[in-house]
Amino acid sequence: MSDERTPPPPPTCAECGAVIGVYEPIVARLGDGTVVQTSLAAEPELERGEWSRYHRECYARSLAA
Ligand SMILES: [Zn+2]
Repeated sequence: MSDERTPPPPPTCAECGAVIGVYEPIVARLGDGTVVQTSLAAEPELERGEWSRYHRECYARSLAA
């Protein structure tokens, strides 16, 4: 019997498009400008919802561009 749900796609970086590892430092940003520096291991709820997720260095690069 197969009752497995399709696993959700892994979170990806809004800047470079690569998968973000659970333990990597990330920057998460909301549409209202809220920015959080954390990791998905610390705050797994950031994997869902309205957040834009970036590798920390990619976020810095996006600001510099
Ligand atoms: Zn990135």
